[in-house]
Amino acid sequence: MDTFGVIGPGAVGSVIGESLHTSGYQVTFLGRKAGEVYIERASASETAAFPVEAISEAETVFDYLFITVKGTQLEGFMPYLDKLTHENTVCILCQNGYGQLDKFHIPNAYQAVVYISGQKKEQVVTHFRDRILILPENPVTKKLKEVIAASDLDIRLSPDYRYEVWYKLLVNLAINSVTALSRNTALILEEEKIQLLCKRLIQEGVAIAVAEGIHFQEGITEEIMRIYAGYPPYMGTSMYYDIIAGKTMETAYIQGYLYEKSQTYGLDTPCLDAVYSLLLASEMRG
Ligand code: NDP
Repeated sequence: MDTFGVIGPGAVGSVIGESLHTSGYQVTFLGRKAGEVYIERASASETAAFPVEAISEAETVFDYLFITVKGTQLEGFMPYLDKLTHENTVCILCQNGYGQLDKFHIPNAYQAVVYISGQKKEQVVTHFRDRILILPENPVTKKLKEVIAASDLDIRLSPDYRYEVWYKLLVNLAINSVTALSRNTALILEEEKIQLLCKRLIQEGVAIAVAEGIHFQEGITEEIMRIYAGYPPYMGTSMYYDIIAGKTMETAYIQGYLYEKSQTYGLDTPCLDAVYSLLLASEMRG
């Protein structure tokens, strides 16, 4: 029987682990410390509990590893990766942003575009919606999809994977920047100047995508603005929650990734350059 591991039993990782566990797969939740993680939903009265093993103590070698720590937490588990993998282990990195895979030196590592919405507070994960992971289509990911077909994890293999990556980057770019920098929730979208800033950020992101050979349909900016308009005013974003909690944000893999690309292509992206600089400045400590 294939062995599955989830490194990082947080919002995304716990939902992936739960999907596999409840369908009878052999899955281990690997955290910084041993303990338990609980998953709750507004729609269900029961809370599910799952045991978490300390990654430093783990002795299993896994066939499939879902890596669901934040981009800022990659260095923490890297020392354990060798003991948890064999030469054919498939690693699925489940994170926002892009560029992190360059840090992995194992042959079968792929990054998923994640559509699982949840939040972890203490040891409790609230799962809001979705269980979707979008992956590039190749023989390894096709096999993974077949192997876990009995679970309710929705693995989608995309022939146009880079489009999916860039679409999510653009969705994350504007709303994460404005909510983190204002330290405020989606409520700020009621301000027209913030709407305008979001549109400009998205347009700059589209221009970078075009330079990378990714072409979006006309009206992409309005489409993403409509997605934002559907957010409830009290909703935060991951970078907003990180900054108000004093945690390091995933700036390097969202705004930073786009900024580097903009520089490479010599593009004029004043809004991106400004928000990226301010995000970096907001994390400077004396
Ligand atoms: P969480 O903070 O909820 O989960 C990360 C988990 O990793 C935490 O449980 C954390 O433990 C654990 N962890 C950190 N370092 C280690 C380590 N060295 N070894 C083992 N475990 C470790 O993050 P999310 O699940 O929200 O986010 C994961 C990724 O998914 C991010 O890139 C995020 O942007 C992306 N994403 C998140 C979405 C969401 O709705 N939450 C939606 C789409 C994408 P501890 O609690 O001890 O810090």
